[in-house]
Amino acid sequence: MADRDPLPERVETKVFTDIDYEAPGKQVSVLRVPNSNNLSGWGTIGVPIAVVASGTGPTVLITAGVHGDEYEGQITLSKLVHRLEPRQVQGRVIILPALHFPACMAGSRMSPIDGRDINRCFPGDPYGTFAFVLAHYIAEVILPRVQFLFDIHSGGRGLNVTPSTCAHHSADPQVMAQLVALAQACGAPTHMFLNSVDENRTLPSAAERRGILAMSSEFGGAGIVQPHALEVAERAAHNFLVHAGVLRADPIPAPDPTRLVETPDLNSFTFAPHGGIFEPYHRLGTEVEKGAPAGAIHEIDRPDRSPTVVHYGATGMLWCTRGAGRVEPGDPVAIVASDWRG
Ligand code: CA
Repeated sequence: MADRDPLPERVETKVFTDIDYEAPGKQVSVLRVPNSNNLSGWGTIGVPIAVVASGTGPTVLITAGVHGDEYEGQITLSKLVHRLEPRQVQGRVIILPALHFPACMAGSRMSPIDGRDINRCFPGDPYGTFAFVLAHYIAEVILPRVQFLFDIHSGGRGLNVTPSTCAHHSADPQVMAQLVALAQACGAPTHMFLNSVDENRTLPSAAERRGILAMSSEFGGAGIVQPHALEVAERAAHNFLVHAGVLRADPIPAPDPTRLVETPDLNSFTFAPHGGIFEPYHRLGTEVEKGAPAGAIHEIDRPDRSPTVVHYGATGMLWCTRGAGRVEPGDPVAIVASDWRG
């Protein structure tokens, strides 16, 4: 395997598995996370995992289903688990196709077990609830073995997003250059350098703190599988592995160059001032102006009130709109992507 920091001698964790991360070949199994319940005190939930390793090279962790209602990544990585063979690999690919497995089986963002969004639970806690225990295992057992992370998301039921790879801004220009090259290699129509809400509890943030080159994505959303978003997801996942040097294959060419965009700050977000039904005025991808009307929120329970018009907070491309019709106060209803200033 590639040169890397020494692994921790022993990690305190309740998670167990028959996967041997150091073994060559292809292993498909589960991570067993304890789940004591009324009918099964020694019950466990098996989180699917595959490890495909051969020869010398980097280790890539590729994940989907951090949020259970985001489907393009789960499909893409399920196909990859079936397809990927050791002879195609130089190094190691660790695949978690349905990472927050209870949420994936429920088709929901949050887990039905402990009500948690696991992407707000990193770096985890070995004595916490299910999501914290699993997050801790990933952060402390898997991430120390990894040089590259691709964490595939979509917008879930709540959001609908222009298919994009995403990454955080880095203060290190060398890391930014690596991210730009990786994004262009992935070949999504858009790459977003994202400033978002409550980001430091996420899997990519945990990876970045370990010096891992971390990319995420938003491929569609609205609680459905969108064929054009799935096509972008499959191309990006394949090309990510090729660019990382772990997959011996030709990249899949993208029809167009990747547009690099950013949300410089949270002014790019428009939040609903009150609940109701959001009427978007524009389609995803429309070029919009700061201050222009973005849509209206209708209070169907208050027919005496006029709808509230909300406005764009930045100039650029309408990158994300509401995925579900109804909104609660404080929900984002529009996010505008500005061209990346470099
Ligand atoms: Ca997500």
